[in-house]
Amino acid sequence: MTRILFAAPALWDEYRDTLPRALAEVGVVAEVVTEAPDPEAIDYIIHAPSAPLQDFGPFTRCKAVLSLWAGVERIVGNPTLTQPLCRMVDPWLTEGMVEWVVGHALRHHLGMDRHIVNPGRVWDPTCPPLARERPVAMLGLGALGLAAARALQALNFPVTGWSRSEKVIPGLATDHGADGLLRVLAKAEIVVTLLPKTPETENLLNARAFAAMPRGAVVLNPGRGALIDDAALLAALDAGQIGHATLDVFRAEPLPQDHPFWSHPGITVTPHIAADTRATSAARVIAENIRRGEAGEPLLHRVDRTRGY
Ligand code: NAP
Repeated sequence: MTRILFAAPALWDEYRDTLPRALAEVGVVAEVVTEAPDPEAIDYIIHAPSAPLQDFGPFTRCKAVLSLWAGVERIVGNPTLTQPLCRMVDPWLTEGMVEWVVGHALRHHLGMDRHIVNPGRVWDPTCPPLARERPVAMLGLGALGLAAARALQALNFPVTGWSRSEKVIPGLATDHGADGLLRVLAKAEIVVTLLPKTPETENLLNARAFAAMPRGAVVLNPGRGALIDDAALLAALDAGQIGHATLDVFRAEPLPQDHPFWSHPGITVTPHIAADTRATSAARVIAENIRRGEAGEPLLHRVDRTRGY
């Protein structure tokens, strides 16, 4: 019998029924436990950053650690973790991210704020441009970035994607690498960051990057707080170089009450709600990976430790 340790106690209520059901659906006969007095008897660990379990050393039989989070920066460098690590690619999480990105892109594209809050009853009949006239840069072309790019393209936004490695994606303009970043930013009126936090991506949106964007460009960051140089963003907003920033993720979360982002008129804070892992669909992803592990098939969504994502 396969033994699975669900090591994220705060999330257990959501998975208590969904996980056994998903395991049964794929034909895995398993016992799911929330405590492991016998770590050497555990085959798989389901993990989240909030999990008290941080020492993976005693889990000598464990075939994989399965993260409930898409971003793995808090576990990937754990020196006790020698088992394969898989991150979460959850179709419903992806749907949530697509909705957040499209919603906030449309807010800025259509200039909705002018009409939602208009205490002066100003009748300004200026019509927004069409989406086809509003270039977007999608920084990150992974599970989330590509889905968000496709959704924006479906609304006719001209999207250019940017990634670490060179990519050929039918119907999508792409660029890569450090030079490519400045090229992509130079023509983007909306910039979306869906990158992992790694040493290479930290402070990627810095003073140089903001200066490369067209004046008044909008930044949407549902990726990670560390992608942005906070001081450079505030300076670029104050100078009018950046028109607005909608930020879902921050270096410290919850965002401290005295952080200048809260009060800056050019910043919208959303509290890390862009995309949540949804137990119903995520349990199926976890179950399928355990089925694969038990069948000797390659695991899905393996993290490459050298890249850090
Ligand atoms: P993913 O599938 O691993 O894709 C990551 C993308 O980033 C890839 O296209 C990758 O390029 C690119 N990338 C990584 N390092 C780069 C670098 N140095 N330069 C250029 N491009 C680089 O990840 P995902 O599932 O799309 O998730 C992306 C991030 O979203 C997560 O890591 C997490 O931080 C964040 N997230 C946020 C929320 C939220 O609620 N706010 C929810 C879930 C996830 P290659 O394609 O060349 O490898």
